[in-house]
This record gives sequence, C-alpha cells and structure tokens, in this order.
Amino acid sequence: MSGPSALKILRYASHCLGLKSYLQHPGDGRIRPRIPAQALVWSLLIAHLLRAWSFLRVEWLVHSPARPGLGVGAAFGDDALAYFTERLEAESTRAALSSAIHQAKRNKVFDHTRFIGLALDGTGAGYTQKKPCRLCHPVTDGQGTLHGHLHHFALLAVVGTGITLPLDVEPYGAKDSEYAAGQRLLRRATARIGRRFAPYVVADGAFATAPFLHTAGQLGLRVVARLKGNLPELSQAAARLFDGQPPHSVFPYGADRVELWDADDFPPWATLRWERVRVLRYRQHKPDGTVIQAEWLTDFPRRQVGSFNLFRLAKNRWEIENQGFNDGKNRYGMEHICHHHPNSMLLNWLLIALALVIERLYRLCYLHRGTHPVRSAIDLVNLLWLNLRLPCAPDTS
Ligand SMILES: [Zn+2]
Repeated sequence: MSGPSALKILRYASHCLGLKSYLQHPGDGRIRPRIPAQALVWSLLIAHLLRAWSFLRVEWLVHSPARPGLGVGAAFGDDALAYFTERLEAESTRAALSSAIHQAKRNKVFDHTRFIGLALDGTGAGYTQKKPCRLCHPVTDGQGTLHGHLHHFALLAVVGTGITLPLDVEPYGAKDSEYAAGQRLLRRATARIGRRFAPYVVADGAFATAPFLHTAGQLGLRVVARLKGNLPELSQAAARLFDGQPPHSVFPYGADRVELWDADDFPPWATLRWERVRVLRYRQHKPDGTVIQAEWLTDFPRRQVGSFNLFRLAKNRWEIENQGFNDGKNRYGMEHICHHHPNSMLLNWLLIALALVIERLYRLCYLHRGTHPVRSAIDLVNLLWLNLRLPCAPDTS
C-alpha cells in the first residue's frame, strides 16, 4: 500500500500525537462492555476523516471487507455507537485534544508564530423535529409558532499559527447563554492547556460583555473582541472620534487596501473594570469596490501590539468561522445529529474536533515534511478511500 491510509493515520495518532492510551481508554462509561471501546472510538474518528460520519455509514464500513484496513478490531451496529456515545465521558476526549495540541507544540508546529491565539465563537447545529432534549432551543417564527429545535455550542480553537486546531466544545441550553458557555469553556481549556500557551483570545461581539472580559483577564488572557451595536455608548464614541479623522495608517493587504484608526483612551462602560478601552477600526477596500468596515475592542496596549498586528489578530477570528464551523459542518458532519442525546451530541462534536486536529497535523505537518508538497484535504480523503480498496467512493461534491 502506498501513500496515506487509515492504518498509517492510526499509527500517527497513536505514536506521533501520543493518543495511544486515549484510544485504548477513551472514557468508556458502559457497564460490562462487549465491544472494545477502542474499536468504537477509532471507528468514529476514522469515519469523520473519511467523511462518512452517520452511525449507519460507520456500521456499513465496519461490516465491509474494508474493516481491517480501517484499523477497527470488531464489527458492530449503529445502536452500539448510540449506547457508547451516550455514556462516553467528555473529559477524556477534551484531554486528548489539548494533549495532541501540546504535542504539536513540542513538535515545533508553532515555532514561527509570535502570538498563538485562541478564537471563540458560538453556532447552532443539529436541527430536529423530534422530542426535545435538555439542550434543545426552540425554533419559532415571528408569530411564536414552534418549527422544531436547534442545538447550540461554543467552540474554542487555536488560531494565528497557519493551522487552525479546535481545542474544546461547550454546549449550552435555551436557558443558558453563549457568553456564559464561553466563560466555562475558556476556564476549562486554559486550565488544561496552560495559562502561558496563548496570550490572547479573539471573539465575536456576543462575547464583548463585562463578565466574559473579566474572566479572560483573570485567566491571564488579553481580549480582542468585535465591537457591535450591543455596546452602543462605545460604538458611538468610536464613530464620533474616527469619523472626523483621516485614517491613522493605510497599507496594502493582498490585493486590498486597508485603512486603520486606532485609539486607546475610551472610557469603559459602567460594568467593565478596565481603566481604558482601546478601539481599532479597519476599512478594507476590495478591488471590486466592496468596502468592509469593522470595529474591535481590546485591552492589548499599543506598546505590545501595534495597529497593524492588532488588525491581523482580529482577522484570526475568521479562522474559527471558516476552518471551524464551515469545514466542520460542510465536510465533517457537525450539523448532523447521529443520535439525539445531549452527551452523544457533545461527544460527536468533540470527536469531530479531534478528527480535525489529527487530519490537519497529519496532512499539513507530517505529510508535508521535507520537500513533500502540501496535499489538499480532498486529496487525502480520496487517497484514504482508494487505499481501503472498496468498490465505491463517497459523494464528496
Ligand atoms: Zn435536543
């Protein structure tokens, strides 16, 4: 067998990323299990990498002649996966995520990055019309008529390094809030990965609340957060100051032209215990005439991060949108409910995050070592299927 294969990725994850012990003991909560936990957890991870994530597709795969090539030691049904993920504890997979990312750091993956960042954002996924679970959010129209339920979670990822690596997931129910889930997520992930791993967190405007900013500060993190209409006093003060001034700096950014305004002496709003707030505005002119303008607030002092670098840190927020949610939903099944149960859904999101970490480090670092070119994600998927020697390939359109 030549080129990448499921078995080679299993060896890479076990030995190069140090996940062997996790794969053997992933936090199995079943009483008297008959199917080894390793077969179940690895089947879910490799199925995500093959983009065949539904439990029925996994069942089909492990009953096919491809099973030895997948590295899965036993066959089982989709009901076994439902039972397993209902009882699988999340902390082991969270620990595996941060341990794999730590190992990447030891393998010098981030050596050329001055500021490793954490990006935080929330999303909705897993629409259903079935009986609601404790994580379900009702979906209603303007008249208040119920049209089913959706699930929400916050995702934290390592960004700004050239490889976006999801680190942790925190779901929240209808009576909870995105920024409260974000605080829990940030506290837990920082405790696990270490306070000095990343100096800042970048987040959307929903997290620009005093409690969230205070939590980040207690954890030793600077914050770069989008400034939107939910902070009207600060938004209006920034507009009053910047609208009357020419840009403080202008520079090319790829084919675009970017204008920046940057001031660090705005008063904090009533509940925020900061001495001053720094606000950056950028106006990005595209060659087709499109103009994108956004304001960001931060507690980074200028002596530590200048205007241009702050602009780049703010832009890192898009990584979680593009390489986190878009990739996760369009290619790895993040939108799909395999089994409508709160723990099963959480574990599915965490295992997608771990599959993404394994895939990106394997493809962008391990396969790219020496003079080997970077393979595209779809190239890798196709090669994995070809090396399973199955008669059919997935629809990857
Ligand atoms: Zn639900």
